[in-house]
Amino acid sequence: MALKTPAEYVDSLRDLSIRAYVNGERIESVADHPSIAPHINTVAKTYELAHDPEHRDVMTAESHLTGERIHRYTHIFHSADDLVKKIQMLRLLGQVTGTCFQRCVGLDALNALYAITYEIDEKEGTTYHRRFCDYLTGVQRADLMLAGAMTDPKGHRAKRPSQQDDPDQFVRVVERRDDGVVIRGAKLHNTGGINSHEVLVMPGTGLSDEESDYAVACAVPANADGVLFIFGRQSNDNRKLEGGCDIGNPRFGVVGGEAMVVFDDVFVPNERVFMNGEAKYAGTMVNYFATWHRANYGGCKGGNADVLIGATAKMTKVLGTERNSVVRDKLTEMIHMNETTYASAIGASAMGYALPCGAYMVDPMMANTVKQNITRNVYQIGRLSHDLAGGFLATMPGEQSFDNPEIARFVEKYHQANPEYQTRERVKLGRYIENMTSVTTMVEAMHGAGSPQAQRIVMLGQADIDKKIEMAEQVIDGDDDVNGLPLPGKRQPAEVEG
Ligand code: SF4
Ligand code: FE
Repeated sequence: MALKTPAEYVDSLRDLSIRAYVNGERIESVADHPSIAPHINTVAKTYELAHDPEHRDVMTAESHLTGERIHRYTHIFHSADDLVKKIQMLRLLGQVTGTCFQRCVGLDALNALYAITYEIDEKEGTTYHRRFCDYLTGVQRADLMLAGAMTDPKGHRAKRPSQQDDPDQFVRVVERRDDGVVIRGAKLHNTGGINSHEVLVMPGTGLSDEESDYAVACAVPANADGVLFIFGRQSNDNRKLEGGCDIGNPRFGVVGGEAMVVFDDVFVPNERVFMNGEAKYAGTMVNYFATWHRANYGGCKGGNADVLIGATAKMTKVLGTERNSVVRDKLTEMIHMNETTYASAIGASAMGYALPCGAYMVDPMMANTVKQNITRNVYQIGRLSHDLAGGFLATMPGEQSFDNPEIARFVEKYHQANPEYQTRERVKLGRYIENMTSVTTMVEAMHGAGSPQAQRIVMLGQADIDKKIEMAEQVIDGDDDVNGLPLPGKRQPAEVEG
């Protein structure tokens, strides 16, 4: 059974019975909690579309390990075409759900583990890669939903992991046994963490040799002893409990339902440990993961923006402004920004190249440029959506107003615009726009896959300014001999300093 159905996914979560807390209270079942339901519905769509013949090509792939048809969310990228299809899959899922479908973090973590275990083994004579491939085969056959856990709490930001007053501010090995390791610490902002089967733990930063206890990568079942999830709050999250149109994105929720995951002395058996003390490889692993994940945002946010642009365009019809040339120009600007980031993500993928293990890496300059643009364009697209939808977004009445006979007729009458549309429809659209341009959504676009400055560091490092100076000198002062100047080609990710 290499492709789960949506129902099997939900049932498997119910069977897991993890330790999870929402608004301070321990919950019985993540599969049955209204705060988590929209995020589960979104992941269920990833399972559903893999069974749809129309989308088989982008949603599934052939396993290079078993030859079986598997979900693309458990696949190792083996060509530029694989990378392009991933971006296409993300745009499709973004269009269908209008939000974050969460499985990409685990996918990129799988690929980063695949690559780094190969490189550690090559240099150190270890056997992590074989072990990881065995684990991966199991993941592919069970079509698991994996959370990728990278961001440590980090404590005092001016101090390295080994300098913290509290050594648990970065996940670390606290005990090494013959049969495995015991880890302690926490990982923050885990997209889909609370509704995943397993958590892939990775180092969150480059490490020095004396920080080898922090160099740990492993796979932890979500229901392992000592693992607990604390669900984050979002803008307007209590509305999920009310039902109706005020929820915003009633079926699929807002971003990824992020959670903190705590590892309170968790034993991880050897067969699930893929890095254990090899500190000098931590930076490369972070880099691989981040580079793949940054390109993603041109796909998923592209699909999300398609829905937002659609909602905004419909709102202009509800208002009767849709033929106004200024309105059309603003919609065009939204489209332009959206297609620019999508094109960069496709470009980063098309220029992909093979790592030593055979997995394909995206072009790091373009991948970082995608994410940098997302930190601006998502805000700018949201701004234009607010501009076109009007102040009503901030002041519209709640759904209950339509149910109270004393006020319903006033609410209907004085919010009526184009008579072809019901007022309730205007509110529903407005709520969608409100939620999908909320603080939670915007901040996710800003900091997900790394904060903007992280991309700028890579971009400047990749740009090779000296070569550009050489180009300028050649053009301005040189003769016509262009030999020795570089053609645009394959760029390698820069190292993260230990
Ligand atoms: Fe995937 Fe985008 Fe969500 Fe990241 S933000 S998990 S890339 S949908
Ligand atoms: Fe994200």
